[in-house]
Amino acid sequence: MYYITLDLEWNQAYAEKALAVQRRLSCRLRGEVIQIGAVKMDRNMNICGSYQIIVKPKYFKKLHRHVSALTGITQEQMDMGTPLPEAAERFKKWCGKDFAFLTWGPDDIPMLKENFHVHDLESGWLEERVYDLQHIFNLQTDGLAKQRSLEYAMEHFEIPMNLPAHDALNDAYFTALVAQALDVPAGVAVYSKARGEFLEESVIGDADAGDDGYVTINEMLDDDVVKNPVCPICKRELTLCDKPLHSKGQRYTYHYHCKKDGDLLLSLKLHRNFNDTWRARRTVKKADETAIAEFRDGLERAEQARKTAKKRRVRHRRRSSGDKTAAAIAE
Ligand SMILES: [Zn+2]
Repeated sequence: MYYITLDLEWNQAYAEKALAVQRRLSCRLRGEVIQIGAVKMDRNMNICGSYQIIVKPKYFKKLHRHVSALTGITQEQMDMGTPLPEAAERFKKWCGKDFAFLTWGPDDIPMLKENFHVHDLESGWLEERVYDLQHIFNLQTDGLAKQRSLEYAMEHFEIPMNLPAHDALNDAYFTALVAQALDVPAGVAVYSKARGEFLEESVIGDADAGDDGYVTINEMLDDDVVKNPVCPICKRELTLCDKPLHSKGQRYTYHYHCKKDGDLLLSLKLHRNFNDTWRARRTVKKADETAIAEFRDGLERAEQARKTAKKRRVRHRRRSSGDKTAAAIAE
């Protein structure tokens, strides 16, 4: 089996345009892929090939200035690119039959799938075997479930960044170097076990799948599947133990307890639907003492951050009202 590291660059539309296109297509399209980069390794993790293609977008044709600044891709290059159906076919051919994708983070395959979907291209082959190297990296280094950047992993293994980043091929190459520093076959062997920790995993409010999205976040947080969930194992009602934790990237975590099955963490990761409503990936997993301690640490840190922010606001208010008094005296 071959391992293929994959990286994409995509173009974004300005908000209004993006919304209009998604409404018209009535499906999600967060960005249009403009570059595919990939590096192939054999079973011994030796690099044996690379692939790069610039893709011409169909809907978001104007290169966003942030994307241009980040990737160095020009409007002209993009205009001369290969349309996705053709690029996809060539890429599939290059991938071959017996391979697994290695990505850095969970975003690339869903993004590519979304793009395939708006072009009516078959996308099942993209998902057959995908491993997020971030998980394998975490598992084989400090065991923390954090999202680390590729730069972080490169620094960890002292891999020099001797090519410009944010080029799909360079990033795929860097990902391959990180993969070489890890024990990928071992990571793959325990991957589904390490990831299959969820007792329940679903998407709620998925407008793309034809559900009603939640108009507001509060509407979602008030839903019974969040507020009054039942235990996935014994179907009994659960008791809420702590305040919910709202963390970065619109994630909400709830600590519930089942009399029979113990502590559970219910987690929501919020995303915008194409029509501006909300959906969330909802997961429930068992939580041991360490997980609960980490959760409570998070709560404490959030509380501290809230207090600091409040103090700063009060200080700011005092200062501005003080200014006004001083100004009044001066008058
Ligand atoms: Zn239970």
